[in-house]
Order: sequence, then structure tokens, then C-alpha cells
Amino acid sequence: MDFSFSENQLMYLDTVRKFVKNEITPHILEMEKAHSFPWSIINKAWEMGIINLCIPESVKGFEIDTISSALIIEEISYGDTGISTSAMCNDLANIVISQHGTEEQKELFLRPFVEKPLLASFCLTEPGAGSDNSMMTTFIAKKDDGTYVLNGSKCFITNASYASQYTVLCKVGKPTSNFMACVIIPVEHITAADIPDIGNSTREIQVPTGGKIVIGKPEDKLGQRLSNTASVTFEDVIIHPNQIIGDRRFGFKYIIDVLDFARPMVAAIGLGLAKRAFALTLNYTRERKQFGQRICDLPVARDMLTTMWKKVELAEMALLRATCKIQEKATDAGIYASLAKNTAAEAAVFCSTEGLHLHGGYGFTTDYEISKLSRDAHIIDIYEGVREVQNMIIGREIV
Ligand SMILES: Cc1cc2nc3c(=O)[nH]c(=O)nc-3n(C[C@H](O)[C@H](O)[C@H](O)COP(=O)(O)OP(=O)(O)OC[C@H]3O[C@@H](n4cnc5c(N)ncnc54)[C@H](O)[C@@H]3O)c2cc1C
Repeated sequence: MDFSFSENQLMYLDTVRKFVKNEITPHILEMEKAHSFPWSIINKAWEMGIINLCIPESVKGFEIDTISSALIIEEISYGDTGISTSAMCNDLANIVISQHGTEEQKELFLRPFVEKPLLASFCLTEPGAGSDNSMMTTFIAKKDDGTYVLNGSKCFITNASYASQYTVLCKVGKPTSNFMACVIIPVEHITAADIPDIGNSTREIQVPTGGKIVIGKPEDKLGQRLSNTASVTFEDVIIHPNQIIGDRRFGFKYIIDVLDFARPMVAAIGLGLAKRAFALTLNYTRERKQFGQRICDLPVARDMLTTMWKKVELAEMALLRATCKIQEKATDAGIYASLAKNTAAEAAVFCSTEGLHLHGGYGFTTDYEISKLSRDAHIIDIYEGVREVQNMIIGREIV
């Protein structure tokens, strides 16, 4: 295990940092208040090759290693975690194709992301199946002609209103089946020119193979307002056998592989946010004086800044350890992924909450970015598995 970065990784970091500093940070409060979808940032990130990190070189992708992917996502998250959630979601949806798809499926379902700035959605959560995804009822049933028909509803799906492809986890045969499949549904290609901003509208998609997909109105969220989240309903969508990834009964195994990759990426999102909250708070408390001293020199405030710094550093160590484990294909990578996710979520919530407090009344106004960070942070403790589920995974493994 080597925590020093290669020249390539340092070059990537430098490029993403400059991008965030020039394109995101100066406009972030204005952009977030406007609440319009950040296509321009997504398009620039695509041009720079800092999204779609998991696409293999065999289909002209960047095939970026896990550690570098986490570093890139962390840096984008330093700018905004709504944008990084949206960008990272392409890998969340597409990694199962990279890992378990055939060469033909990679060409069919991944190549379009290399050719155009498109977005993808990963559809796992359902109204009755959140932390316990085994309770999902969306299912495919086989028809006499060898194709399948998909029906069911998913909720809280990132990028849903703008997606050009949906990765869907569903039961096989009937809603109560013990088997789960992973299917890929490519639809019309959507770019900024096609849907610049969905606003408060729904979207109806006629699927080329048959059936339709209905996307609900975007959720009006507390934070991460620059990411799009909506429900997705599949109505008699026809699925050809070549749209099913791997073995149609092994979806549970594929979800675990996806989440083992995705949880450290969510940890990277949390770490980026925690670092930003810490940096803003440090700057603020260095400048503002009370009781004749800089706030950062008042012992209790200094103590809090130290605690914030320690949480950030621990989150970084947990993230690097998890990504190294994944890169080494270690059998215990999963529990390190859960550890990294929880450690980073805790750092993000702590640093943004206490950072806001150290900004006093100013932190409670929308003029100060720390108030936005404290809204954004909560979801990091929830999506890709709530804190308790991560602890359940760790607990199960260690006993
Ligand atoms: C902004 C946003 C983006 C999202 N993006 C996606 C996406 O792209 N794709 C997707 O499929 N899903 C997505 N989700 C869904 C997300 O992953 C779920 O919300 C999350 O897994 C929790 O499920 P739930 O909301 O149903 O909460 P529930 O499962 O109902 O849990 C509620 C609470 O119950 C407690 N709890 C749950 N399980 C346990 C347990 N085992 N032990 C003790 N306590 C427990 C916890 O306190 C938990 O917070 C997104 C959600 C949001 C808000």
C-alpha cells in the first residue's frame, strides 16, 4: 500500500483544482440559488476527461484507476457536491457494464458516453425498498418471443430527468422473486440543447424497443440543489436479452460490486465538502476578531478547528485505504469502503455544522457558502447506504 501520488495523479489533481477554482467556486452561490441544471460545467468536465472515469480503454474510455477516480471526485466536490454527484452518477450507472458486460455491451452502452456529454442513471431505490433493496418489486417477465417486459417504479434517481441511459436493478419473473437482474436501457440522447433545464416538469420517454418511461418532477431538495433527482416509472418496457448484464440471476452480486466502488466515491464527495468547510471556516476565523483577538486564537474556537482538521485527515486516510484495498482487489475491500463512507460523511456533517457555528450569525445567511455546505452535507450520510447500514456491513464482517 503506497499513499504517495504518481506524477499522473498529481497532474490530474492540478488540472481539476484549476477547473474548480476558475469555473465553479466563483459562481457557486449564484448557480445554486438559480437552481438551474449545471450543463455547462458537466460539458466542460466531459471535454477535460474528468467524468466517465470507469469506461475501459477498449471502447476509447479513460479507464482511470480507483485511487485517481476518488481524487478527481474529491476535487470536484470541493467546488460543489451536487455537481460531483451528478458527474459521479455516470460511473455509478456504468461501472457494472465495465466490470461484467460483454465486449459487445461495452461498445453498445459505453461508447456513446465517450462520444458525447451524456448522463446516465442508476436505478436501485424504490418507495418500499430503500436500505433494504431486497424488497424491490420492479421486475422483468419473459415473453414467448424471448424478450422481457419491465414494470415498476424507482425513486430518488440522480440525473433521471436528463439521462440518456438507465441502469436498472429488478427482480426476475415476479416481484417477489429471489433473483435480481441488472438491465441497461438506452433511450434518446439528451444534451444541453435538448433539455437545457427541466424546471418543474415531468418527462415521458418512448423506449425504442417498446413501452415507456415516465420521469417525475425533480425533487425539491434541502441541499445538493445542482444535482437532479426524480422518480422513474417503467411501463411495459421491452428488454432484449443483450440488455441484461451478466447472469440474469446475479444482480445482488453486481450491486455489491457497484457499491464497493461507489461508497469510496461518496466518501470522496464527503471529504471534498469537509475540506471546503474547514478551509472557509479557517479563513473566516482568521479574519474576524472578537474579545480583541482573532476568533481562531480563542482557545475554545481553536480547539474546534483542531477537531475539524482531525476529522478531515482521518476521512482522507480512510478513503485512501479503501481505494487501495479496492485496487488490490482485497477480499475485505467492502468493509473499508463502508468505513471510508461513514468517516467522510461524519467529517462533512461535523465540519459544515461546526463551521457554520464558527461563522456566527453570518453563517446562517445565504451569502456565506458555509450555509450551503451544511445543507449539502446531510445526504452524504444517507445515499449509497445510510450510516447504520455501513455499520451493519462492518459489524457482520468483523464478528
Ligand atoms: C439526493 C439523493 C440522490 C439519490 N440518488 C440515488 C440514485 O441515483 N439511485 C438510487 O438507486 N438511489 C438514490 N438515492 C436513494 C438513497 O440511496 C436512499 O435514500 C438511501 O439508500 C436510504 O433509503 P431510504 O431513503 O428509503 O431510507 P430508509 O431505508 O427508509 O431508512 C430511513 C432511516 O432508517 C434507519 N435505518 C435504515 N436501515 C437501518 C438499519 N439496518 N439499522 C438501523 N437503522 C436503520 C436510518 O436511520 C435511516 O436513515 C438518492 C437519494 C437522495 C436523497
